[in-house]
Amino acid sequence: MKRRILLVEDEQDIAELVALHLDDLCDEVVIASDGYEGMRLAKFQDWSLIILDLRLPGPDGLEICRSVRRERAYQPILMLTSKSAELDRVLGLETGADDYLTKPFSVLELVARVRAIFRRVENMQRAPKAEQQAPTTIDTGSMTIDPARREVKLNGQFVELTAREFDLLEHFARHPGHVFRRADLLDKVWGYGHEGYEHTVNSHINRLRAKIERNPSKPEMIVTVWGVGYKFSGSHVSNSRPHSL
Ligand code: CA
Repeated sequence: MKRRILLVEDEQDIAELVALHLDDLCDEVVIASDGYEGMRLAKFQDWSLIILDLRLPGPDGLEICRSVRRERAYQPILMLTSKSAELDRVLGLETGADDYLTKPFSVLELVARVRAIFRRVENMQRAPKAEQQAPTTIDTGSMTIDPARREVKLNGQFVELTAREFDLLEHFARHPGHVFRRADLLDKVWGYGHEGYEHTVNSHINRLRAKIERNPSKPEMIVTVWGVGYKFSGSHVSNSRPHSL
C-alpha cells in the first residue's frame, strides 16, 4: 500500500521543512495551506496519515479532525499545537487526535512519530495474514475484543474506537491485573516512550472510559493505580492463547 501523508499547515516554511523530512518515509506528501483545502482533501481522499496544524485560516485543525473522525474512526491523525492549554481539546473525546506535537517541535521528533505510526499501521495490516500468530479474541464476560476484525462489543453492542483506543484497550485486556506506567504505555501502544507526552495516555484513558465504563468517573475496568499508572481489572478474562504485543 502506498504511504500518503496529508499535511495541513498554513506556515509555508514549516510545511516545506516537514515535507522535506517526511519525503524519505513515504510515497507522497500533499500540503494543504488552509483549512478549506485541508478539509476537502482530508475528507475525500485516502491518507495513511493526516498531520493537522491546529490554527488555520478557515476550518481549524479541531474541526477537520472531528469531521474526519465521524467518517473514519481509524484514520491516524497527528496534531500540531502551539499551546499546551489546547491539549485537552485536541485529545478530547470529541476531537480524538491520536497524538500531538507542541510547536516549536524538532523535525527529528516528528519523523520518529511518523515512523512509529506507520510501523503500527503496517503491523496491524500484516497481522491477520500470519495465521499461526492470529491473535485470539478476548472475552471478559461483558466485553469481547476481536483483534482480527478490530471490533469491540460491550454487552452485545459495538463500541466505536479509534485505532489507538483499540490498541490501548487490547494491550490492557491482554495483561489483566498488570500495572502499567504511562511511559510503558507510550512505549508499547504509541511505539515511543518520549517523556513529556504522558498527557496523551491520560486523555486516551479518559476517552476509553467514556466509551466502555458504566460510570466513567468510577471506572471498574481501567483502574487508576495512584502514583503508578493504570491496570485492567478483568477478573474473569478468558484469553485462550497468550499473545504479547
Ligand atoms: Ca497555523
